[in-house]
Amino acid sequence: MDQIRMRCQLALRHARVSAIASMLVIALGAPMTFADEPRALDEVKERGWDFKQTQVELHPVADGVWRATGTANAYIIQTSAGAVVIDTGLPHQAMQVKERLESAVKGPIQKLIFTHAHMDHIGGAKLWKQAYPDAEIIAHEDFSKVQHELTILSEYYSRRGAKILPELVALSKKARSSNPLFEPGGLVPDVVVDNDEPLVLQVGDTEIHVLALPAGEGRDGLAVWLPKQKLLFTGDMTGPHFPMFPNLYSIRGERYREFLDYIHAVDHVISLGPEIIAHGHFDVIRGADYIELALTRMRDAVQYVHDEVVAGMNAGKSLEVLMQEIKLPEHLKLSEGYGKVAYSVRGLWETYTGWFQFQSTTELYPVPARSVYQDLVVAAGGPDTIQQIAQAKLDGGEPEKALHLVEVAQAAGSPSASLMALKRAVLQNLRARAIRQTNNFMEVSWLDARIAELAPETKD
Ligand SMILES: [Zn+2]
Repeated sequence: MDQIRMRCQLALRHARVSAIASMLVIALGAPMTFADEPRALDEVKERGWDFKQTQVELHPVADGVWRATGTANAYIIQTSAGAVVIDTGLPHQAMQVKERLESAVKGPIQKLIFTHAHMDHIGGAKLWKQAYPDAEIIAHEDFSKVQHELTILSEYYSRRGAKILPELVALSKKARSSNPLFEPGGLVPDVVVDNDEPLVLQVGDTEIHVLALPAGEGRDGLAVWLPKQKLLFTGDMTGPHFPMFPNLYSIRGERYREFLDYIHAVDHVISLGPEIIAHGHFDVIRGADYIELALTRMRDAVQYVHDEVVAGMNAGKSLEVLMQEIKLPEHLKLSEGYGKVAYSVRGLWETYTGWFQFQSTTELYPVPARSVYQDLVVAAGGPDTIQQIAQAKLDGGEPEKALHLVEVAQAAGSPSASLMALKRAVLQNLRARAIRQTNNFMEVSWLDARIAELAPETKD
């Protein structure tokens, strides 16, 4: 608690200094930069890889509100007429999460509210429903559609997930095989919340608002608002880090997420004036001024990237040029440790225009460039010349081109140890650059997994 209090006081102090800095900046007419703000908005404490080591513990959030930590957070609200649960954690942590939350409250579970249909939030849902059959399940009106999509493609998604987060996916799979309640799908909401109207609940002495915020991590996003405490549970809309550039395209693979819906949702959250934000992951954030400052930057950064993509498309710039060119300006800098601007640029481009980029007629046919790599190796008289050019590209600071060429050389089959050593060097170069530039969790995890799987491929 002391730590929480300290963070809270720090946040308030920083927010006050920031507000003064902002006023000075407005008075002086200079753009506000990250250097003006003692609590840097482009830095976050948690990194994505903390997902891998999070333990299940019980922490107080506010009077009568508790959080069970884990890879994802789950919360419980005590009312005079029983308790309300928000999210239930991943399958392999769900039992522990349930025990911890139950130990904090008295009376029956009245409601189970789900912030969205991702498995790290609904993993233990059927466990709770089995224990409390009268508890009402509340979700977004699109929850069932999203759940259906994630369920019919669960094998595909879990194969992809294992390519990026092998440890977590293995733990989830093990839990699923041990208990059919952890299988995806089959969760039926009793009450749905639509995009137009919040659901206002009176549970005993506690007023709870359930709001649709179809943005951030999907179109079925819900937030839960406790007006008395000005406490907002945002699911993954504002996280997992705070503040950060949102993850508007996840390389795990999922539908593109809407920029303009996100902006609208952040405006809605700002209008509530939350003093505490309780996310779907990691620590609770405290301090109304700091929260508003951070949310404003998150909204403005997304609007900036949106407008730059639109301007670039109209100016006839290619997708790749925009992915390289569009960067957050200094006064909008945010962590890209989870959501990466370049990936979101591509997501937005494809949202607006689909996959045909008008760069080559070959895009229209299901015969990719790699289908002729082997012919190129033959034309080059074997993989060695191509490997030499790849090495030169790497040495010249062009690791992406080096990787293309390595893949061409690999098409010859039975890659040599030296070719695989070069591939490892290229991937390590990309990894070091990723850590230096954005420290993006998804990108680094992908590169780590590709480096780890290189050794068995090598033949002499
Ligand atoms: Zn999540």
